[in-house]
Amino acid sequence: MKISFREAKSIITKSNIPSIDYVINPYIGCQHGCIYCYAEFMIRFTGHKGDRWGEFLDVKEFNADKIKPEKYKGKRILLSSVTDPYLPLEKKYQNTRQILEKLVGTDAEISILTKSKLVVRDIDLFKKFKNIEVGISISTLDETFARTIERGASKPSDRLEALRTIYEAGIQTYTFISPFFPEITDYIAIIEESVSYTHNYMFENLNFRPHNIPRIMSIIKECYPDLIAKYQEIHKDRTQWDIVETEIRDYCEENQLRYSIEFHHGGFSKS
Ligand code: SF4
Repeated sequence: MKISFREAKSIITKSNIPSIDYVINPYIGCQHGCIYCYAEFMIRFTGHKGDRWGEFLDVKEFNADKIKPEKYKGKRILLSSVTDPYLPLEKKYQNTRQILEKLVGTDAEISILTKSKLVVRDIDLFKKFKNIEVGISISTLDETFARTIERGASKPSDRLEALRTIYEAGIQTYTFISPFFPEITDYIAIIEESVSYTHNYMFENLNFRPHNIPRIMSIIKECYPDLIAKYQEIHKDRTQWDIVETEIRDYCEENQLRYSIEFHHGGFSKS
């Protein structure tokens, strides 16, 4: 892992994600190195041309005293959008923890999203916020497939265990079933496993981008050779997602779950 340090003028930045006002990305790069990652474009914008996603990390250096909790009243802040706030190196550098400590007292709605069991470290801090939700993202319960697609992230069972602990501490939780791999993501099994400690579910489909298509196809070929034709079809005909979405919706309605579906229907950027 190539580690560098980089000064960040502002650690809380305006977001262009719908329904999120600000994002906090305490690091540049992501040790989890997921094969489908949509944040890989960061390589181009951050002077990492030639580096492999998942193999470098810039630790942001910032003036924590500039964080003013009152500035974000009524806003929604996501931690994080192009990295994971609880990477293994967060244990050492503690950027996420420092930022949260400075934000205590805010009236903003804070949303934490991670694939790491390290998140339980900050339960003491989460309890100090008026409006916070903590979520994990998960695609599969199959540990071998998870290791293949998300090599640096915590095992799915450890993520779920972390979410249970957070729920038991009285904190609002969500399970983000993402990315949804057709015929592989057993969302019903994930829901059955997590329903007793999840307040809210979110779903997002697998986002085919030019940079990740060859990797996704090669892993499907290797792990699920029978599904390769299906994936080629879905990649070309995005209306296939409508069927998946309808199934999920019906299941959630029938089981009276709180949920939202964030499926993209063919509107992806080509870059
Ligand atoms: S955890 Fe998120 S940001 Fe990190 S590599 Fe995976 S998808 Fe990308």
